[in-house]
Amino acid sequence: MPRKEILGTLGSYINPFRITQGEEFRLADFDPADTLGFEMKKGEAADLLRHGSEWLAIEQDVLYAQDSWSVLLVFQAMDAAGKDGTIKHVMSGVNPQGCDVFSFKQPSHEELSHDFLWRYLAKVPQRGRIGIFNRSYYEDVLVVRVHRHLLEAQKIPPALITDKIWDERLADIARFEDYLTRQGVIILKFYLNLSYEEQKRRFLKRLDKPNKSWKFSPSDVRERRHWDEYMQAYEAAIRATSTEAAPWYVVPADKKWFTRLVVAAAVVEAVEKLNLQYPEISSDQAKALAKAREELEGEKKAAK
Ligand code: AMP
Ligand code: MG
Repeated sequence: MPRKEILGTLGSYINPFRITQGEEFRLADFDPADTLGFEMKKGEAADLLRHGSEWLAIEQDVLYAQDSWSVLLVFQAMDAAGKDGTIKHVMSGVNPQGCDVFSFKQPSHEELSHDFLWRYLAKVPQRGRIGIFNRSYYEDVLVVRVHRHLLEAQKIPPALITDKIWDERLADIARFEDYLTRQGVIILKFYLNLSYEEQKRRFLKRLDKPNKSWKFSPSDVRERRHWDEYMQAYEAAIRATSTEAAPWYVVPADKKWFTRLVVAAAVVEAVEKLNLQYPEISSDQAKALAKAREELEGEKKAAK
């Protein structure tokens, strides 16, 4: 398939799920099982995904060479929505040297002794690289919002903990992302939108298969009891932080093949839009290269 056609095909997957203005956003308007009417065979989807990964690998190479823009991919979701598998598949073709994945867990003692953005800022990708946040600063307005004791563990002066704290944090996150985008960080945020029923199916599958059960923790079932609170927290987060420069993608997650395609399409499109070129060589550099070639070609084996 020629490049333009691939991009066109990929493009049609993205727009329905991209949120750039949050005021009207309602999670209920998004169907976790949506596949836009595409019925794809496994092989077809894999083929398309492979093309996407190939393009991404090429673009990553140019990104790395020009050493100026960077890309931050943020992944958020309920358990078993497929974050790990999506990251693995979408990034399968890229050069590990130009890509970093960070999985954020419960904060450490040291991390809790700083402001909540501290540990994330330290991992923002450097210029020329793609950085992936497997969970992110959004946990601080999601899990921490749902479980009050986590907020207490953050050692914030009590006078600063008011009813407005979540709106304040969301505003801080929006400003933080604004700041990063003005520094040349392209930010894409993915919410893998899994249904309550599909999560149960996947948990049961994990319990059935010995090579999957390590992924299951009894606390996953406890978290499930807070589903509605999580959905409210996600909705509030997406409403407050969707912008043109740092959009959210609410990606249907009940069908894994579709999740992976949408994410791959969004990443390829975002980098493609930068229209990056390999750095141009100045005439002095060209002369130096020509001289190096002359030297190499003039080398005598015997001289060694
Ligand atoms: P997992 O990604 O399934 O390995 O789990 C990581 C766990 O760390 C999840 O239960 C998250 O909710 C939790 N976590 C991540 N970030 C934070 C945070 N800032 N505060 C508290 N818990 C967090
Ligand atoms: Mg987990």
